[in-house]
Amino acid sequence: MVPNNMKLLPKLLQAKLSYWRLLLPNRCICCGLKIEEAQTGLCGTCITATCYQTPICLGCGKPLDFIADYCGHCLAKPPLKVVAACSYHAGLGGHIASMKYQQQLVVLSPLIDALTLRIKALAKQGAITLPQAIVAVPLHPKKLASRGFNQAWLIAEGLALRLNLPLWDNQVVRLKQTPAQAGLSGKQRRQNMHKAFALRSVCPYQRIALVDDVVTTGTTTNEINKLFEPDYIDVQVWCLARAEAPSLK
Ligand SMILES: [Zn+2]
Ligand SMILES: [Zn+2]
Repeated sequence: MVPNNMKLLPKLLQAKLSYWRLLLPNRCICCGLKIEEAQTGLCGTCITATCYQTPICLGCGKPLDFIADYCGHCLAKPPLKVVAACSYHAGLGGHIASMKYQQQLVVLSPLIDALTLRIKALAKQGAITLPQAIVAVPLHPKKLASRGFNQAWLIAEGLALRLNLPLWDNQVVRLKQTPAQAGLSGKQRRQNMHKAFALRSVCPYQRIALVDDVVTTGTTTNEINKLFEPDYIDVQVWCLARAEAPSLK
């Protein structure tokens, strides 16, 4: 039996929040301007200015002059397709990083919305085929315990709801607690990630989308892809931002 005052608490908190929302303007975290629309965190102008608006190569992230999935260079040996809402360096990188390090989740929802729009547009153009399920890149259990949440899972859940796709949850596990990839060369990143993941069960899908917050060299997602390759499961990657790093090949 829940005491009455405990039942009241969430209602009181909600009332307090609505009160403050009326008093405080909903401001964009990027430009500081008041947001009139229903969304929070980022205004429409900043989303347009920072998110991809033109075609880019889904392999390497280079801008393309025409709608295609890969540039000529990537076509020779097509890498995994990476669909991102924006470039990490276009202005929102710091806010995306503060999502996992400072639990500042204000850009999460508007960026999932932007990514959803991009996924739908690319599927309509035929550049990608929608997957049958979504899989979040897992954290090592120790890291999950210390951080309290997996940012990739939050993004994956938001996409699953918006696109009405199932989340194949908790089936990819991280076996190795790897040091942070930042500052490492491409080769060191690959060594770091070698056999870092495993599958708990046989994947029942033929097409999946792997979800992470940021994709840089693709070392993590390529390593997870190796788990699905023997069963010829098609893997594409969805992320909030891609951090192009041509020097880290
Ligand atoms: Zn703004
Ligand atoms: Zn390319």
